[in-house]
Amino acid sequence: MSVQHITCIVCPRGCALEVDAQAGTVTGNSCKRGAEYGIAEATNPTRTLTTTVRVVDENGEPLDVAPVRTAAPIPKGSLFDAMKVVDAVRAVKPIRRGDVIVPNILNTGVDVIATRDLL
Ligand code: SF4
Repeated sequence: MSVQHITCIVCPRGCALEVDAQAGTVTGNSCKRGAEYGIAEATNPTRTLTTTVRVVDENGEPLDVAPVRTAAPIPKGSLFDAMKVVDAVRAVKPIRRGDVIVPNILNTGVDVIATRDLL
């Protein structure tokens, strides 16, 4: 595998990393977190999905939308499919921050949770 050029997004400094995942080496990082990020990004990139879920009343009539996110990062390649799953969900009030809206999305072991109260 060749060297990949990746910008570290762990902190605002944005170090320019050169990652050789096969050799397990990272250069250009200013701290250990950057090396860990570089290897993870080169081998199994993940992202936290942040979106909204539709909220309906007990009759299924649209009421609002509520902000949600994955409780942990999921594989970057699964983001589009995860969006489709969340888009199909109709949540019902009351919703409290931290409530699980979609458990174990796409069998990733990660829940989609509410990030704001909607009472
Ligand atoms: S390598 Fe360290 S200092 Fe540089 S952007 Fe990443 S976290 Fe920040």
